[in-house]
Amino acid sequence: MQSLKILVIGGGIGGLTAAIALRHKGFAVEVIERDPSWSVYGVGIIQQANVLRAMKALGLLDDYLGAGVGFDAVEIFRPDGVKVARVPAPRLLDGYPANVGIGRRALHKVLGDRTIAEGAEVRLGITAETIVDDGEQVAVTFSDGSSGIYDVVIGADGVYSHTRETLFPDAERPAFTGQAVWRYNFPRFADLDALQVYNGPTGVGFVPISEDLMYMYVTTPEPDNPRYPREGLAATMRGKLATCAPAIQALTEQITDDDAVVYRPLEGMLMEGPWHRGRVVLLGDAVHATTPHLGQGAGMAIEDSLVLAEELARADTAEDAFTAYRARRFDRCAYIVRQSLAICHGQLGKGPPVDNAKATAEMFAVTAQPI
Ligand SMILES: Cc1cc2nc3c(=O)[nH]c(=O)nc-3n(C[C@H](O)[C@H](O)[C@H](O)COP(=O)(O)OP(=O)(O)OC[C@H]3O[C@@H](n4cnc5c(N)ncnc54)[C@H](O)[C@@H]3O)c2cc1C
Repeated sequence: MQSLKILVIGGGIGGLTAAIALRHKGFAVEVIERDPSWSVYGVGIIQQANVLRAMKALGLLDDYLGAGVGFDAVEIFRPDGVKVARVPAPRLLDGYPANVGIGRRALHKVLGDRTIAEGAEVRLGITAETIVDDGEQVAVTFSDGSSGIYDVVIGADGVYSHTRETLFPDAERPAFTGQAVWRYNFPRFADLDALQVYNGPTGVGFVPISEDLMYMYVTTPEPDNPRYPREGLAATMRGKLATCAPAIQALTEQITDDDAVVYRPLEGMLMEGPWHRGRVVLLGDAVHATTPHLGQGAGMAIEDSLVLAEELARADTAEDAFTAYRARRFDRCAYIVRQSLAICHGQLGKGPPVDNAKATAEMFAVTAQPI
């Protein structure tokens, strides 16, 4: 198809990479983002070689690497701090690292700047109020009173997607796992040249995200899904680390700023049925939200973007494009969601324990496959 006018709902990682990929195919693109300040919280994200490959395909590789930091291994530790494995991460691009750690704000700036530079229109502080698909086009009214007519609408509005709820009121919903994650930034360990993962009922990881910064994540069982007040959050996070390995405990006194603690109950969701209805299609967390145990959620959203743009450019109808898109994406995304959940359940004693080193090596092999 040519000359499509496309609305992307959601200016996050999936929506912005979709906008860039669609502009490369020559489509007219508008992005609407609910958050008027287009903000992102301040910790980081882990990405693997398949994401570097996707960033290259988006023409973003150098900007992306310039904003993050590369590393080539995952180190696994026992709860008492003894290192049990260093799993080399396979590179997919010659001369580039296997993994990248990057601050979420740094990534957001790279994607946002490029989206605008490629000529997509970005409108902030806006949501879609009504979406009416007559089979030929989609009429959308917006929360600011404006309206538009589009050939295709993409719902990239995240795990609590309003687009999904409107289109598929009976679809799967995000389900709380019983586990939550705490994150906090620190000065980077001088010798940190890998993602470090400490196993145990309280799991801990250290992720480099720049030359001088790393973040710590801490996964804890939270069966009752408590709502912790912001005041005192740093002390609560310190308390969660009281029985961890000495190397971790040594850091805890630096956790002092309640506002810098990022706490998040972990949820997962996979739409088993169709990912589109008529001319409206879903992408990223809106259709397959994963817990972060394999660090691949954003990677899947970015790959979705490339595949959807390719299929829209290649197909004769939106229906064909969306069907081909889901066929290319479902197994891979389902693997990430299900395997991440299996690791989570293993950690919580809700399922058999999963060998982290083995699961990581397998994930590298699966995601190395072409998209
Ligand atoms: C604790 C945690 C750690 C993670 N760590 C990693 C990691 O290390 N590596 C990795 O690859 N992935 C990780 N992920 C997953 C990753 O964050 C997501 O998969 C990724 O952000 C999905 O991108 P998205 O664009 O689909 O959704 P989002 O990033 O959630 O973006 C959705 C956007 O839509 C906007 N929006 C929402 N509703 C509307 C609306 N009605 N109208 C307009 N705009 C709207 C939102 O404001 C937001 O900007 C992690 C996730 C969690 C929860």
